[in-house]
Amino acid sequence: MRIEDDSKLDYKDVLIRPKRSTVGSRKDVELEREFTFRNYRSDSSAHYRGIPIMASNMDGVGTFAMADALAAMGLFTCLAKNFGADELAGFFRDGRDSRRENAAYSTGITDQDYEKFEAVYQHTGSNLKYVCVDVANGYSERFSEFIKQLREAYPHVVIIAGNVVTGEMTEELMLSGADIVKVGIGPGSVCTTRTQTGVGFPQLSAVIECADAAHGLGGHIIADGGCTCPGDLAKAFAAGADFVMLGGMLAGHDEGGGEIITRHYKTGEVRKTKNGWEDQVEERKFVNFYGMSSKAANEKHFGGLKEYRSSEGREIQVPYRGKIENTIQDLLGGVRSTCTYAGAKKLKWLSKCTTFVKTGQQYNSVFAGK
Ligand code: 5GP
Repeated sequence: MRIEDDSKLDYKDVLIRPKRSTVGSRKDVELEREFTFRNYRSDSSAHYRGIPIMASNMDGVGTFAMADALAAMGLFTCLAKNFGADELAGFFRDGRDSRRENAAYSTGITDQDYEKFEAVYQHTGSNLKYVCVDVANGYSERFSEFIKQLREAYPHVVIIAGNVVTGEMTEELMLSGADIVKVGIGPGSVCTTRTQTGVGFPQLSAVIECADAAHGLGGHIIADGGCTCPGDLAKAFAAGADFVMLGGMLAGHDEGGGEIITRHYKTGEVRKTKNGWEDQVEERKFVNFYGMSSKAANEKHFGGLKEYRSSEGREIQVPYRGKIENTIQDLLGGVRSTCTYAGAKKLKWLSKCTTFVKTGQQYNSVFAGK
């Protein structure tokens, strides 16, 4: 057994120090980025152009409607894994450029997963550009082997691979053929890996270390999970993330397609009416949201949890929030504002312009209420 002594940080452990800035106004900040990927073979020099925020491949988030809505705003969606091959082929084949450029097919690493991908690819060809190979634990040998096999067979797809939290595994995945490595084990809003297994890594430090490793090899990373507010998203970019992936922050919208549940709560106010004193009641709306390895997800997609597995996800109800567009405007406004405070005219420069200050116990306990 060994103990690592240097402290590792989460988003809540830091703030971004304001600096003298020449950026006049938020609207002058450029959020679009252009990337050229490490292993993807293509004739064009810029392989990606857009606002590098991604919807997670979770039920209620990584849906077709979400992909189209986010693409219209220049954002990206990793589709959930459990759509049928026909639906997926239809979606990508539809020929809209925005789908090719802003949506990823997601897959696991079983033989059936590979066969399903091959079948869909046959029907979509170059319309399917991005593949997100997503497993809970990106440290297995089988996972790297799968990435190698996929890269050899499909040089013309962009491979997203994860999840990992350390520099050496980021490098291994890049050398195996991944273009973008997805970073995060345990920080998710409906994830219980840390309590269920004791495994994890504070997300801000994971992003810093993996971004450093990836950038050294000309690769890219996604900070996946743990963002609870626009400020966290800005911290992830400031830490070196090329993309940030969101689950919980994008749940509860029309585009997620979940059933809307209405509840009534007493407000605490009592008013006199012609029938006497009556409690005032307000209506609130919610949508179910669950982790993809929760009992709920396993029941929905696999007919229950296998007996040797435990659930590593929770099921919760999040407030219903209407159309995704308003939430995205709020998010982008937050990140733009961060850039003006830090003196970065482009999102691209935020990381170079950032000095993090550690907030310490006092901030966490007193101000963050934790
Ligand atoms: P959030 O943005 O909600 O904090 O985190 C989203 C991320 O949590 C997803 O992109 C995925 O990596 C992770 N995640 C989703 N479902 C589960 C789950 O059931 N268990 C675990 N451990 N992680 C999950």
